[in-house]
Amino acid sequence: MKKPFVTLEKVNEIVNTHSTPFYIYDEKGIRENARKLKEAFSWNKGFKEYFAVKATPNPFILQILKEEGCGSDCSSETELMISEAVGITGSEIMFSSNNTPEGEFTKAKELGAIINLDDYTHIDFLKEECGIPETICCRYNPGGVYEVSNGIMDNPGDAKYGFTKQQLIDGYKKLMELGAKNFGIHSFLVSNTVTNDYYPALARTLFELAVELKNETNANITFINLSGGIGIPYLPEEKGNDIMVIGEGVRKAYEEILVPNGLGDVAIFTELGRYMLAPYAHLVTKAIHEKHIYKEYLGVDACAVNLMRPAMYGAYHHITVLGKEETPLDTMYDVVGSLCENNDKFAIDRMLPKVDMGDYLVIHDTGAHGFAMGYNYNGKLKSAELLLKEDDSVQLIRRAETPEDYFATFDFCDILKQK
Ligand SMILES: *Cc1c(COP(=O)(O)O)cnc(C)c1O
Repeated sequence: MKKPFVTLEKVNEIVNTHSTPFYIYDEKGIRENARKLKEAFSWNKGFKEYFAVKATPNPFILQILKEEGCGSDCSSETELMISEAVGITGSEIMFSSNNTPEGEFTKAKELGAIINLDDYTHIDFLKEECGIPETICCRYNPGGVYEVSNGIMDNPGDAKYGFTKQQLIDGYKKLMELGAKNFGIHSFLVSNTVTNDYYPALARTLFELAVELKNETNANITFINLSGGIGIPYLPEEKGNDIMVIGEGVRKAYEEILVPNGLGDVAIFTELGRYMLAPYAHLVTKAIHEKHIYKEYLGVDACAVNLMRPAMYGAYHHITVLGKEETPLDTMYDVVGSLCENNDKFAIDRMLPKVDMGDYLVIHDTGAHGFAMGYNYNGKLKSAELLLKEDDSVQLIRRAETPEDYFATFDFCDILKQK
């Protein structure tokens, strides 16, 4: 069963200062998990996690991860700016962009970030814009369907990302002619995998590719970036990944493929987002209306603006009614927000304890791709983000939006000017 990391008592205390809805992050959970990842890959001298900033673009969260030894994976100018603001610079940044707008490679190069090219044509684009750096990475797309032991996982052949194998061979040669000296390989083939087999399988694919690229081009391959994709169990009955087993699986592939081929110094990088943060935040929201028509509706003060995943993908997020953790789940609800959009539902046909107005609901596993995906449809404002610190105190790490924020882009004129 999923247990919230805050109690009703704690939330009652928090709402004296911060009104619902709000996000709350668990510093202790974030740190412990980051340490465990590091431990799982401690066999690799150069190992580094580059946290995918898009999952949780909050400088306070990045600061915590930086203290745990993580860098950042950015794919836009503003993500680079957030990293820079917390002092993550140089080779601590992986710039894994695609369809990259003009100017962003320049910004990345100024920061000394490792540039991860998404396409063969980006070699010339980068050369023209700011020149080819000494260290460079290329993203691989194997095409077709990607299978691991338990069947088809995804369809890289339909994905917009990466180089084909022949383009990688040609690309490495061209980059060497243009002055590149150290090379990396990157690939992201499947999202939210809840199996210990994905990373080891991907590692095998990329390690074999590294050997082939080395033989074909004689490039100096210094790192392999396994990127994101390790998932979390959103469903209470699902079994989570075991990061120690995953790390060991990658180590085995490394010993079998890279070491005998003279690539025993290659560093392993990851760019995890979801795995690093998803379990370590709750969206806390209050029950404000109940409605009995053809179904039972429970209206809460959060909406899809605060968390889009259920509306966008039909994603499951577990819900706990605080203070009723032990109460039987005897009532079926659709838990809804207030958007004029019928997909604005956090849960459909969900069994919960009978909810009273004013009850607080915890929506679990919202720490990654949660707040970040929000938008402002219906003029709804984004919530605050709070941090539950290790000493049990609560820190504001992003204030809630105000109408002034919503109207800020009209500040070139007098309409809607705030007095
Ligand atoms: C989104 C993304 C990640 C992180 O993915 P998760 O599924 O959150 O682990 C890593 N790398 C790149 C390039 C991405 O786009």
